[in-house]
Amino acid sequence: MQQLIDGYGRFRSKVFPQHAKLFEKLANTQHPGTLFICCSDSRVMPEMMMQCDPGVLFSCRNAGNLIPPPTETGSGVPATIEYAVRVLKVQDIVVCGHSDCGAMKAILKPEALESLPVVRGWLEHAGPSARWLTRMLKTSASMSFEETLKAVTEANVIVQMQNLSMHPSVDEALKQGKVSLHGWVYDIASGGIRSFDPRQGAFFPLLPETRAAVEPRAKQERKIA
Ligand SMILES: [Zn+2]
Repeated sequence: MQQLIDGYGRFRSKVFPQHAKLFEKLANTQHPGTLFICCSDSRVMPEMMMQCDPGVLFSCRNAGNLIPPPTETGSGVPATIEYAVRVLKVQDIVVCGHSDCGAMKAILKPEALESLPVVRGWLEHAGPSARWLTRMLKTSASMSFEETLKAVTEANVIVQMQNLSMHPSVDEALKQGKVSLHGWVYDIASGGIRSFDPRQGAFFPLLPETRAAVEPRAKQERKIA
């Protein structure tokens, strides 16, 4: 705790005064352009990754960056989505998974959840995605655990995007062209972000220069497929 209090001391004495005008502007209003849905994992830091000031990202964090379908109202996720879309009128929604995700590992190794009934309930609460992912695992027996984890992490992002689009506020905004959905996976070791391309059904590096570097291999893979 002392580390946190010391950090707050530095924020209060040095950082806050440097951004005093911004905090004054934000004191009674916010206009974030993006709803950022990501895992609670301590190694995923949206504002640091995106180099954002306060007031830019409206965040929703939970274990596994899960988005229950609108029929499942037991969590605060649907309320956060509705508020972001209908009140704050965000233009973009990002669903961001990450490497080495404990929730994804737990889906792959459900026995690890025996002493975690609340986590197990949350993963189940996410609706069909956990069951769908478990079935997917059974058909990918030839893959290593690391390969399966990567595939499941990417698949989870796609499933959660589908759940997201089912929420009435998002569905309405999508039909009116007022919001765009983005599916990302952040790699903790390299800092790289891969973005889902729905037209190609695959994830590609978010930055164009790194995307260009892997393009030939991606083309080759598509040719083989
Ligand atoms: Zn995670």
